[in-house]
Amino acid sequence: MSPESQSEPLAACEDESARYREFALAVQVAGHAIYMTDPAGVITYVNPEFERATGFSPAEALGKTPRILKSGLMSDGYYRDLWRALLGGETWSEEVINRRKDGSVYYALQTIASIKDESGAIKSFVAIQSDITATKDLERALERSEGLYRSVLSSMREGVILQDEAGVIKTANAAAERILGLRRDGATGRTNADPAWRTIREDGSPYPAEEHPAMLALKAGVQVDEAVMGLRRPSGELVWIAINARPVRDPDGSVRGVVTTFVDISERKQRTDAVKRAAETDFLTGLRNRYAMDRSLREATARAGRYGEDLALIFLDIDHFKQVNDRFGHDLGDLTLSSVAAAIAGGLRAGDQAARWGGEEFIVAAHRADRAAARALAERLRAAVAALSLEAVGSVTVSLGVALYRPGDDLDSLVGRADKALYAAKAAGRDRVVMED
Ligand code: GH3
Ligand code: MG
Ligand code: MG
Repeated sequence: MSPESQSEPLAACEDESARYREFALAVQVAGHAIYMTDPAGVITYVNPEFERATGFSPAEALGKTPRILKSGLMSDGYYRDLWRALLGGETWSEEVINRRKDGSVYYALQTIASIKDESGAIKSFVAIQSDITATKDLERALERSEGLYRSVLSSMREGVILQDEAGVIKTANAAAERILGLRRDGATGRTNADPAWRTIREDGSPYPAEEHPAMLALKAGVQVDEAVMGLRRPSGELVWIAINARPVRDPDGSVRGVVTTFVDISERKQRTDAVKRAAETDFLTGLRNRYAMDRSLREATARAGRYGEDLALIFLDIDHFKQVNDRFGHDLGDLTLSSVAAAIAGGLRAGDQAARWGGEEFIVAAHRADRAAARALAERLRAAVAALSLEAVGSVTVSLGVALYRPGDDLDSLVGRADKALYAAKAAGRDRVVMED
């Protein structure tokens, strides 16, 4: 270093020019397009990134105005506002859509500030652009895919509900709200325990909120398939739905929420219920048929064995029914069968079950009936049939054999003993009840 450079003013001057060169270099290498204009907006400087970003070389840009970047996609108002702000001394910072020399369009966040001289007059403007095209493209792609999912969800026939980890409904599609009987957006913010709907199982018992498929998926992390639930809409209407529930997990595996899909199976259920009822009902009398009774008796004997409950089985057979057919014909015989069945059904206690076991034989299962109760019931049924007054046929009687469940009994042994007691009733003169010993 020369001795002169050590003198103070010169050192300051050299400092300043070194700093200036440093700033100029910084602007040169900056990753943002930077340009300057005179107060009239004529471009006086562009940095290398400007050429890379816009395609205009310094020679092509200098002496022109930033209108060379105009895309035609911004409103006139945009430029009016821009100039008003700049001339008012404000810094302008807004998104802008510009066009490159090759005609392609790019999105930039543009900041323009004025540089003033000592008197406060505008000397020049400096503009910095940062290209946000990639972000914009991403935003648009996201919007498009979100829009796609939304339109897929809203066009689905299945109800779709998304709940957070607390079970609060975040999203419900249109089908979900239609099936649940809610107005638009009516599901959002509710939980499965919401009083707006009451839920039941297929047997009619309440469906506990904590056993709702969505809650099982949420709390136990399990997936639930085809759970059937009856749902009482706010309007009071009952709708049956089949539900699938899947936990929604974070990348680390923890349960973040649950997505539930469901379909309205009310019609399907009505049909299958009707088929099931038909399969279990005797066509002529409307009582259960032997198939259905066989099943419920097996369950009843198992229950009696397990819990030591009383169970009585009453076997009924119409007396001299062949004669009814012979004298009045098969059709009146059928009518008689129906009337006897109705008399039996009408004489039951709540919870008892009657079935047509065969031709003109019936079986009654009397649950929790001890010997005295079973005898009283059998006697009441006998009297009810005897009291019938049938068109043309007049009256008929039945004989009844009663057996009481014994530990170790199965369906066959119990029915066998009731049949034996019935045989004894026939032998003793009919129109009577015989209890097994
Ligand atoms: P008992 O007092 O000993 O029982 O004499 P019964 O004549 O009733 O003898 P049984 O029980 O053996 O008779 C059964 C008769 O029931 C035979 C059959 O003609 C008649 N039957 C069975 N099923 C039907 C039916 O579906 N319709 C009609 N009309 N008759 C039936
Ligand atoms: Mg018979
Ligand atoms: Mg008979």
